[in-house]
Amino acid sequence: MGMEYKKLEMERKKKIALVAHDNKKRDLLEWAKFNRTLLAQHELYATGTTGALLEKELDLHIIKLQSGPLGGDLQIGAKIAEGAMDFLIFFWDPLESFPHDPDVKALLRVAVVWNIPVACNWASADFMISSPMMSEEYQRLLPDYENYRERMKREHVA
Ligand code: PGA
Repeated sequence: MGMEYKKLEMERKKKIALVAHDNKKRDLLEWAKFNRTLLAQHELYATGTTGALLEKELDLHIIKLQSGPLGGDLQIGAKIAEGAMDFLIFFWDPLESFPHDPDVKALLRVAVVWNIPVACNWASADFMISSPMMSEEYQRLLPDYENYRERMKREHVA
């Protein structure tokens, strides 16, 4: 059976979430400094500590959420689910485990559910930020979850 799709409009000015684990903060700051002009054209969000560092380094306004271990990753995930976040740059650390590992997993998962572009390392972030689509509107294709909702209701609500 063919999957039905819906389209979600991504505007030219994108809502971008930036997150970096402690050992990756230096990398993200370097990357963001190099791409400051491009980033300045968008609306920037970040987890608490990453956001404070970026704001200082870039001298750009960053909407700062909670620090990651205090729920910041989940706040970004919630925004993705609400359709209020377009883009995720998440430099997570593959060599450490964290108290908020489940939140990290949740954020990465929900980004896939909603077909959000995600860059988890420097090279992916380079390719994504330099795409001509960054400065255009974009029709984000989404599976039509209405079928899923209806099926769940049929199966579980008498
Ligand atoms: P932080 O959170 O920016 O507040 O350090 C990032 C994280 O650890 O998820």
